Amino acid sequence: MKIDFTGKKALVTASTAGIGFAIASGLAESGAEVVINGRSQETVDKAIARIKTQLPEAKLIAAAADLSTAEGCQQLVSKVPDVDILVNNAGIFGPADFFETDDQTWDTYWATNVMSGMRLSRAYLPAMQAKQWGRVVFISSESGRNIPDDMIHYGVTKTAQLSLSRGLAKRVAGSGVTVNSVLPGPTLSDGFKAMIADEVEKTGKSYEDIGKDFVMAARPSSIIQRPASVEEVANMVMYVCSEQASATSGAALRVDGGVVDDIV
Ligand code: NAD
Repeated sequence: MKIDFTGKKALVTASTAGIGFAIASGLAESGAEVVINGRSQETVDKAIARIKTQLPEAKLIAAAADLSTAEGCQQLVSKVPDVDILVNNAGIFGPADFFETDDQTWDTYWATNVMSGMRLSRAYLPAMQAKQWGRVVFISSESGRNIPDDMIHYGVTKTAQLSLSRGLAKRVAGSGVTVNSVLPGPTLSDGFKAMIADEVEKTGKSYEDIGKDFVMAARPSSIIQRPASVEEVANMVMYVCSEQASATSGAALRVDGGVVDDIV
């Protein structure tokens, strides 16, 4: 199978680091024109420079915007009014006990992880329907099915994305536009590395080894028994964005290393 995105414009939200950066790089390498988004112009410019080092021919558009607000989403849509592929990757995570999680935290998680994808889907889906082609992907998480007791506020947003994605797929039924979600498990992204940085410093072990220890302790049902790389997650996303994935819509696709102990 040869995946080719030539002629397609893709927006990957929060693509200056982590999984989003890997998805944006992969799409650009396969011919797409890619919109790079992050909160500041500086991080966006740095991400673009990083991709250009590997891929000098890459077609990239800079679009700094904070997607945790309605204004930020509107700013992005005004700058980039039309896309063929929308990857709703923006998401924050971190442990916090339920009884110590205040309303402000719940609101911030909901706004960043759920409302951003809802607002952008509402803005971009009508033109995709009119063109009879489009791809929308929500980056959810195994935590949307396997709710961690120390990240309930996060798990709730990731379950909500599954519901939003499935509902939207049905809303655009028969249009040639697909809407899916991808569920990564623990993935060695920049954000995940920041979460385990203290442990790396304390023990002198590598990020890979501490990541593996985390998986074995916190997600022992993992079949691969290690975190995924950001590229492994990006590969699944690239497939579902491709022409070849035209019969997959309304699906929740796992790239969780088998963490969710279920047969589907
Ligand atoms: P990351 O922290 O490595 O990178 C996140 C990027 O998002 C950063 O570039 C950051 O600047 C940007 N960002 C944060 N808030 C933003 C906002 N309001 N507007 C625009 N950009 C913003 O994150 P990651 O680990 O790559 O996670 C990406 C997605 O994958 C998230 O939705 C996360 O929930 C999901 N996910 C991650 C893991 C994991 O283990 N890393 C597992 C399952 C799901």
